[in-house]
This record gives sequence, structure tokens and C-alpha cells, in this order.
Amino acid sequence: MLAVLILAAALWWGGRWFGVGRGPRLAVLAVLFAAVLLTQVVMPAGHPLREATGGGIVGWLLLFGAAALVLVYRAGLGRLRRRAEAKAAPAEEAPAGTFRAAELERYARHIVLRELGGPGQKRLKEAKVLVIGAGGLGSPALLYLGAAGVGTIGMIDDDTVENTNLQRQVIHMDAAIGTPKVFSAEATVTAQNPHVTVKPYNRRLTEEIAADLFAEYDVILDGTDDTATRYLVNRTAVAQGKPLVSGALSQWEGQVSVFDPARDAPCYQCIFPEAPAPGLAPSCAEAGVLGPLPGVVGAMMAVEAVKVITGAGAALRGELLIYDALWGETRKIALKRRPDCPVCGVAPGDGRP
Ligand code: ZN
Repeated sequence: MLAVLILAAALWWGGRWFGVGRGPRLAVLAVLFAAVLLTQVVMPAGHPLREATGGGIVGWLLLFGAAALVLVYRAGLGRLRRRAEAKAAPAEEAPAGTFRAAELERYARHIVLRELGGPGQKRLKEAKVLVIGAGGLGSPALLYLGAAGVGTIGMIDDDTVENTNLQRQVIHMDAAIGTPKVFSAEATVTAQNPHVTVKPYNRRLTEEIAADLFAEYDVILDGTDDTATRYLVNRTAVAQGKPLVSGALSQWEGQVSVFDPARDAPCYQCIFPEAPAPGLAPSCAEAGVLGPLPGVVGAMMAVEAVKVITGAGAALRGELLIYDALWGETRKIALKRRPDCPVCGVAPGDGRP
């Protein structure tokens, strides 16, 4: 009997050593034990082969019985464990559009706000916001959109984090120098709020991809410092009837507005019909910019996005808010649509509103 068991063990572990699968090895063992049982039943008592394989069937039957008990016990344990895991799973994964307990607690200060409440928070969770640029304005905008619970946040930028960015681009850590900005920003946003989905696009926004990309989102935030990109963002947002929350900076002054011709507000090109001549609009690198200023303006962009999504208060449609950090002043100027705007204007006799 011992010799048979040793042979069985050698077949089982030896087969495993040679990479034979579990199924074939079980089959070999079944054949071996079936042959042994047959020997016990068929051979006459005292036959050398029968003596060598145990000498009687009772011992084998006891052994198989014990093995069967162990297998049944293990199968039962496995079934109980799977049932317990299946029961625990729904608490982890809330159905779409509903909140887990941890999220309700996280957004409690929103939910008590009369203008937002539960319905407003649900709109934020269902919203899809695309942020152009993960730099100075994108940093606070992305952080606050994520913290506020905007469900899907896209970000597009083809830059990598540089040492000179860190004086104001607070979403990027020192250790991220040299990594693409969108991946650095994705890591920070998801570390701050694991309940939101972040989609990083590590590439430049171009005419070829703009329409398809914008189609996936409800609201667009523009925080680039590149005029050509601003015009492209505006054209695409207007063509798809999507609100464009736009921020801009220079040295000590910031501006923010919501361009939205679909809701009768002007578009970016109504206000800035032509790109400034080269050299007249120096970049941050050339002119300098106060570190906390993009923090103020980018956070204002996140505020406007929350208002656009939830309908709370009045978003800055048809208004440009100007913040002068050097003198601590804010002022608002009214903006009007230009009938002859090449992007959103009405050509004579066109008949469009
Ligand atoms: Zn326009």
C-alpha cells in the first residue's frame, strides 16, 4: 500500500515538476487507483500482486473515504467564502449615479448648501469636464474639480513638468519633474479623491482631434497660454454648443469668463477678434507671473464650472471678471456678442438667432 502511495505522490509532484496540468495528473492517479482496486477485487487472496498493493480492499476504501471527506469539506469552505465575498461586493461598488457612504460624507458640506444639495452633487458626479492645459490655471482647476466630485475629468497637455513650473503649478510635486504633466496631475487628483475618473491625454490639442475629444465632454475649461489653441478651443466648443470656461493671466492680473453662444453669451472670438501681434502679448516665461495668481483665477474657473453644471447662481456669461492682484481690486465688464463674429455671429439674412 505504501509503495502505491509513494508511486502516486511521485506521479503527482513529478508531473507538476515537468509542467503537466492538474487535469492530466488527476486522470493518471484515477487510472492508478482504479487498477489497484481492480487488483484487490479480481486477484485471489494471497496473490503476490494483491499483497504488494495493500492485501485487501478495506484499507483502500477507508483511505478514499477520508480523502473524500477532506475534499467535500474544502469545497464547502470555498463556496461559503465565495458567497461572503459576493455579499460584501455591493457595499464596495455603488450602482451608477448613486453615492457610497464615504462619498456622502465627503460631499456633506456641498449637500447642505441650498443651491447644490443632493441633486447638485449628483449632477457633478454625472458631469464630464475637459480641462485644456495642466499648467498654472489647470492646477487649481483640476484639483478643485476633483475634490468637488466632478465624476469624469479629462485633461490634455503635451508638456512635461519642469522646475520653473513649480512656483505656481501646485498640482505637480518636485519628484514629478521630467514626467508628462497630465500623468503627474492624474496622480495628484486621484490621490486626493479616488471616487472620480481622470482621463489624461498626453498630446497637443490639434484641429484633427478636437471635435472627437470635445464630443465626450459637457463643459470645457481653457487654461492654455497659447493663442492659436484658444481660438481652436473656442471654435470647437461653439460648434458643439458647449459652455467654455476661460481664464487668462498676465503678471499680476487675471481674467475669467464663460463663453457660451448657445445660451446667448458671446464667444471668445467676439471679445478677441484677432490674435495679438507677435511680441504684444508676452508669455508668462517672458513677462513673469505671480505664483498665487493662477491659484485665484483657476479656482474661479472651477467655481464657474460648478455653477454651469448645477445651475446654481449666475455663471459669468456675458461678463469678464478682472482681478488685479497688485492692488487687490476686482471689476466686471459686460461683454456683447458681435453680429459679425466669424465663429458665432449671424451673417445677414442667415436667419439664425
Ligand atoms: Zn463669437
